[in-house]
Amino acid sequence: MPIASINPATGEKFAAYPPLSAAEIEQALAQAAQAGAEYRQTEFAQRSQWLHRAADILDGKKQQYGRLMTLEMGKPLKAAIAEVEKSAWVCRYYADQAADLLQDEIVETDAGRSYIHYQPLGTILTVMPWNFPFWQAFRAAAPALMAGNGVLLKHASNVPQSALAIADIFQQAGFPAGIFQTLLISAGQVAEIITDERVQAVSLTGSGPAGASVAAAAAQSIKKSVLELGGSDPFVVMPSADLDSAIATAATARLINNGQSCIAAKRFIVAEEIADAFEWGLAERFRALKVGDPLEPETDIGPLATPAILHELDQQVRSCLSQGATALVGGNPDALQAQLPERLQPGNFYPPTILTQIPSGTPADQEEFFGPVALVFRVPDLESAIALANATSFGLGASAWSQVPQEQQRLIEALEAGAVFINGLVKSDPRLPFGGIKESGYGRELGRHGILEFVNTKTVWVK
Ligand code: NDP
Repeated sequence: MPIASINPATGEKFAAYPPLSAAEIEQALAQAAQAGAEYRQTEFAQRSQWLHRAADILDGKKQQYGRLMTLEMGKPLKAAIAEVEKSAWVCRYYADQAADLLQDEIVETDAGRSYIHYQPLGTILTVMPWNFPFWQAFRAAAPALMAGNGVLLKHASNVPQSALAIADIFQQAGFPAGIFQTLLISAGQVAEIITDERVQAVSLTGSGPAGASVAAAAAQSIKKSVLELGGSDPFVVMPSADLDSAIATAATARLINNGQSCIAAKRFIVAEEIADAFEWGLAERFRALKVGDPLEPETDIGPLATPAILHELDQQVRSCLSQGATALVGGNPDALQAQLPERLQPGNFYPPTILTQIPSGTPADQEEFFGPVALVFRVPDLESAIALANATSFGLGASAWSQVPQEQQRLIEALEAGAVFINGLVKSDPRLPFGGIKESGYGRELGRHGILEFVNTKTVWVK
């Protein structure tokens, strides 16, 4: 993919960058190693001050950064501004908590004194996606920087200006030069950086194939990797659920970020006896949404980030429909495009869509639908709901709705996912670990577990 900013609402290209040359990458790696040697010796208090300053810069310019994200990848402006605020939150969380989270831990043994001591690993490469350009980068960088590591950011090729803005924020905040660097490089240049001896670990958020390729390069040089990949999260609704609340949350959970979120609810698994009411309520909400220019305040759904995402989603839906599924709402991007103002017609718009009566054997069984498409399935009882929820190669998040305590407990235990939210929307929170099982990846971001991923957990034993 060329490294360029292309407005997904209009198709207009408004910036392009050549990928860094081998000499430029070498310079960046040398600078990271040199700066890292000093940075690891800095006090928590100093790192915290810099990270707090980064949070203040984010808050101070949230309109500007929000607009940049919207222009590069199409999320509604209000959501983009909220993302900048959340990025400031994760900076402040780690700035305030890291010293406690990484305190020495005394363990009584046969030693005179034995304890666990946490040290930085070195330079961490973070390979990040375009769907939350600021949040993904900050949630990876904040714990790594507080732990005393340096960070290299290889951002998605369609958000280069966001990537450059993020590096600028860390520089303005006072972090030493070279400690956080954005590398404008192609995916093909990543493996070489992972295997370079000046890089100690890698974290990737993105698709399965990208994860597999990054993990392979890391394994080849025996380096730690953390992978946060896709999901096909279930949203289970049992008869006892507060249906109004479940429907409202279902719409938000599916459509957040124009439907392009790894933890968006994608498969709605609904008890037969309430399924008509659920479908009717969800359809009403989907039909009421305004699709259009994401810079306009009344827009609910903007364009998909790239033509490739639009094409893939369209193919998936077409395949379901041709095999017998029903489009309760939407399903026809051409009809939507024709209604849009002319300047938006080259945009990657896809209508909010609900598919029902989906037979088995369609892409809905195993693939992630990365866009505003809800897949609704009916089940006779709780155990069938759990079986269907788990019948996927993914295991990221799960939302389940029931007022019955025994059902809640069964769902918490049985759902195969890195997170289960009962009667609520699956969301990330700096205080809670975030990550998946199965093909959704391994390792955790955020919370205490997130900062412990990229440290040397050193055992100290003194006679
Ligand atoms: P990718 O996984 O291709 O991109 C994510 C990041 O990985 C980008 O920085 C990308 O760089 C980089 N990358 C891609 N391939 C490689 C590789 N072989 N080696 C090293 N780095 C690589 O996501 P796409 O944008 O192509 O989206 C495709 C699908 O991925 C979506 O439909 C969705 O299913 C999933 N996805 C999941 C996300 C999540 O939050 N879990 C986020 C984004 C996508 P470059 O942009 O230069 O290719």
